[in-house]
Amino acid sequence: MNGDVSQPQQGSSTQAQEPTFDFWEFVACSKCNLPFVSDGNGQPSVPFWLTECCHVVCNSHLNADQSCPVCQAPGIELMPLQKDLPAPMSDWFSYIPYRLDAMGQAIRVRHSSR
Ligand SMILES: [Zn+2]
Ligand SMILES: [Zn+2]
Repeated sequence: MNGDVSQPQQGSSTQAQEPTFDFWEFVACSKCNLPFVSDGNGQPSVPFWLTECCHVVCNSHLNADQSCPVCQAPGIELMPLQKDLPAPMSDWFSYIPYRLDAMGQAIRVRHSSR
């Protein structure tokens, strides 16, 4: 009898789980490495700012003269860093996992070169 074929259980996820890569976990102040997300509640302990020159700083390291505290670029635009940023900003941040992936590949190539 073939009526006893076990069927995939409905309700349990049979789909391939996509790794939920939260790039916010990689966002931290460039000066003090304070993480944007602390312990999973999703709220930064202090305001974070994104500079025009693609640097992230926490509120403690914001320069009053609108210069970048990381690379000293003068007269930069600052933008409050929030999790619900509009799409272009989220897209901008995709460079962070890309760089991490590139670093991983570099290590792998190095390892297999011998
Ligand atoms: Zn800081
Ligand atoms: Zn900068």
